[in-house]
Amino acid sequence: MNYPEASNFIEEIVTTDLASGKWTHVHTRFPPEPNGYLHIGHAKSICLNFGLAKKYGGQCNLRFDDTNPSKEETEYVDSIMDDIKWLGFEWSELHYASDYFQQLYDFAVHMIKEGKAYVCDLSAEDMRQFRGTLTEVGRNSPYRDRSVDENLDLFERMRLGEFDEGTHVLRAKIDMASPNMNLRDPAMYRIMKVPHHRTGDTWCIYPMYDFTHGINDALEQITHSICTLEFEDHRPLYDWFLRQIPVPCYPHQIEFARLNLTYTVMSKRKLLQLVMSGAVNGWDDPRMPTIAGMRRRGYPPEALRAFAEKIGVAKMFSTIDIELLQFCVREQLNKTAHRVMVVLRPIKLIIDNYPDDHVEWLDADNNPEDPDAGKRQIPFCKELFIESDDFKEDPPPKYFRLSIGKEIRLKHAYYITAHSVVKDDCGHVATIHCTYDPESRGGWSKDGRKVLGTSHWVSAKHAVEAEVRCYDHLFTQQNPEDVAEGHDFMEGFNQQSIQTLIGCKAEPSLVEKNVGNRFQFLRQGYFCVDNDSQRDKLVFNQTVTLKDAWAKIEKKN
Ligand code: ATP
Ligand code: MG
Repeated sequence: MNYPEASNFIEEIVTTDLASGKWTHVHTRFPPEPNGYLHIGHAKSICLNFGLAKKYGGQCNLRFDDTNPSKEETEYVDSIMDDIKWLGFEWSELHYASDYFQQLYDFAVHMIKEGKAYVCDLSAEDMRQFRGTLTEVGRNSPYRDRSVDENLDLFERMRLGEFDEGTHVLRAKIDMASPNMNLRDPAMYRIMKVPHHRTGDTWCIYPMYDFTHGINDALEQITHSICTLEFEDHRPLYDWFLRQIPVPCYPHQIEFARLNLTYTVMSKRKLLQLVMSGAVNGWDDPRMPTIAGMRRRGYPPEALRAFAEKIGVAKMFSTIDIELLQFCVREQLNKTAHRVMVVLRPIKLIIDNYPDDHVEWLDADNNPEDPDAGKRQIPFCKELFIESDDFKEDPPPKYFRLSIGKEIRLKHAYYITAHSVVKDDCGHVATIHCTYDPESRGGWSKDGRKVLGTSHWVSAKHAVEAEVRCYDHLFTQQNPEDVAEGHDFMEGFNQQSIQTLIGCKAEPSLVEKNVGNRFQFLRQGYFCVDNDSQRDKLVFNQTVTLKDAWAKIEKKN
């Protein structure tokens, strides 16, 4: 049999398993806990799990790992499903760990009957003491040798709600002297008198991750259970649980290094803190490393998938430059985004020799990179807005943009030469007066005369008001999670991470666009229409600048 060529260590394992007949197919799963929105690290895991299934003609399930009701909510479940679909993946089966609660309970009872689990009354603190340390073996709990009958009775009463939280736990009976701390009689069930977002008040005991996860994998006949490196030490426990109960198969747990990005944080706990403290505007704030935030920011799903592909999977922990992600975004948008003209910091330009009420509709390519993107018409008239940065009264040497006596090109339109300015009461230039060369229509002179500068512009009469939100890194340091003792990661929050420009002037074609549509604003970068946008007040998010910082970083390396 021929298998697709393996491109990383996980695919090598899969190929070997298929070749040896250990498995005849591939079935993976993506198992998020619905305690927050998904972030770009999850996107890596999604691309990996769904990607493997696709590559090997197998299946990938979505399973909500909802065993801790105190932190889980339906809002998160819904957002996770939205994000996966938006990324371009479809799950084969949808499951919830909570659907297995009865089955898990029955398995726990089975283990008690086999003498493999017991109810322990030690307090959390005592349990920690008894557990020992990496250099010291643990001690057996005084409750370890309870009879099967007593354990069955106590476990049943835990379930019935007779005991307070923290008074009893069900523990696996493994080995308190194991060099692997995870095998020192880990907890299987705890009492939690908290309603669950799906099962309501049915349960007041909830199964622990380690007990639940492998069993769920086995019941769904998952072949390769992929997780991040911190679970490597849990693998012996994963395997141990599966051998205590009658399961249909033995999935193989494989660990890979989690993704970290510079200038941002990646744990849901910290992202939740950003949201709850009001530092950002919700989980989908365009500055957030969440999938919802990136979507709102204008990152295309193709770019996230390309990024996941580029970084690959490895066992080695590393932090990826956020510029690489932005590079992938830019690359995708360069191919697909229509070019438009928006003036972010407008200054008025009057063409003295242009007829007063005349309007010309000029042809403009939607995307020079894509001939199929077509053309549109943009209105040109006597009064325009240009970027205030594009004019200087006292130009420094090598300033190729507009200044008095200088000629530049207005993109898609004409050559113009500036002659004078009118200032406001504060002495700032308010209006620039210029003349145009009617022979240079389309932006090219007949006599072959060259100009060095080209400005974008918008017709004053046709301009649409816009608000443009520009973003910088969420944190000021490269590795915001590396904080010194006694300090909090929030101290590194970049207070300047958002800059809102109002009074921007957009070309009229943008009125017809929909939330999420992405554009290149000529000479400015890539932008998308924000959810807050309205017909008479457009709102855009800056997705990424045109400047490629990644190329520089790559050169340096
Ligand atoms: P966090 O610590 O951010 O809350 P988590 O691992 O607790 O993340 P889960 O909802 O349990 O979040 O994760 C679902 C899946 O996504 C798991 O298989 C997990 O290993 C994977 N995952 C989570 N974070 C990352 C990351 N940074 N890089 C790659 N995979 C990740
Ligand atoms: Mg988790």
